[in-house]
Amino acid sequence: MATIAVIGAGLSGLNCSSKLSMNNKVIIFEKSRGCGGRMSNKRLGENQEFIFDHGAQYFTVRDSKFHEFVSDIESEGIVGEWKGKIAVLDDGNISDTHQPDLKRYVGMNGMNSLAKYLSKGLDIRFNTRISHIEKKSPEDKKWILKSESGEVFDGFDIVLVSAPAEQTLSLVKPISDSIASKVESARSAPTWCVLLGLSSPLLLDFDAAFVHNSSLSWISRENSKPNRPNHESWVLHASPQWSTEHLENSPEQVLQLLKDEFVKVTKKDIKDSVVVSFAHRWRFATVPQTIKETCLFDSDLGIGACGDWCGGPRVEGAFLSGLSLADKVNSYLSTKSKY
Ligand SMILES: Cc1cc2nc3c(=O)[nH]c(=O)nc-3n(C[C@H](O)[C@H](O)[C@H](O)COP(=O)(O)OP(=O)(O)OC[C@H]3O[C@@H](n4cnc5c(N)ncnc54)[C@H](O)[C@@H]3O)c2cc1C
Repeated sequence: MATIAVIGAGLSGLNCSSKLSMNNKVIIFEKSRGCGGRMSNKRLGENQEFIFDHGAQYFTVRDSKFHEFVSDIESEGIVGEWKGKIAVLDDGNISDTHQPDLKRYVGMNGMNSLAKYLSKGLDIRFNTRISHIEKKSPEDKKWILKSESGEVFDGFDIVLVSAPAEQTLSLVKPISDSIASKVESARSAPTWCVLLGLSSPLLLDFDAAFVHNSSLSWISRENSKPNRPNHESWVLHASPQWSTEHLENSPEQVLQLLKDEFVKVTKKDIKDSVVVSFAHRWRFATVPQTIKETCLFDSDLGIGACGDWCGGPRVEGAFLSGLSLADKVNSYLSTKSKY
């Protein structure tokens, strides 16, 4: 049995950990206070009555292994199909219905449901941002992790990093040239996100829309998703270009600018109906440039990496990347009798 550290409790890290924990000791280190990473939801309102998916909005299924997993958890009521009407808005006019036959899935209690399901029984150390990975000496077989707040975690045979590419790079660059040189070619882009809870329904002919020719790229009525409370809740995403240009703006400024744009593209007056509002910046939201490999593993050092920046820049890609890394580590361990 090997002792394995996994950095990050997003979908890729959790999926990798759940496979490896069947026959190894796995400890996950997560900088936030919950799991799910970019598949997260937020509740707002006096009674937490407004629920928003403020990262991933939905996911699609193409690969057979992911299909098998999704079918299983759909039958358990963890995820369900979102049958909302998705439009394309161009200069404020509906120009199209977006791929009406595409099956879109969401978590039944928010996108976080998948992560919560995968995290069952796993040893996760929350509020622990790993800032450094090292060995006492080059001959030493065991890895040591250090957290930003000065904690030291010792005795790992293998360390796997499942953070976004830029954060993975800062951890692996000092220790593995072979992994760092690959991670360097992946690129993330930011997304500014605004959440609006309204006192009354907006009468629109769609539930969500890809928005063109606007600072917004996506708007979504969260209460059109299955099993969500019937309180009018909208998520607005700014385009990657606008988000990059306004990366260092304050949340208050971004909230006002994107709210104004929402009014413009929907042609609806929401002045007197906003009950709750919130702006969130995802610095590493999407991955315009991925690498070809589905995961990376340096078997000489016992260091690996996975995430949506490996092969597939979305929920499905993160799931598959975690699976691919677990397979790689398991086959490496099967050649090492001492584990
Ligand atoms: C705004 C937005 C919209 C999106 N829309 C969609 C969509 O509609 N459909 C779709 O399929 N995908 C979408 N995505 C992408 C999808 O969310 C991601 O592809 C997927 O969730 C990535 O999972 P991951 O495990 O690779 O990374 P993450 O979810 O980012 O997980 C990495 C984890 O590592 C942790 N971490 C990082 N550094 C450290 C450290 N040093 N120490 C400890 N922990 C650390 C982070 O806190 C995080 O929990 C969207 C993403 C965003 C942000």
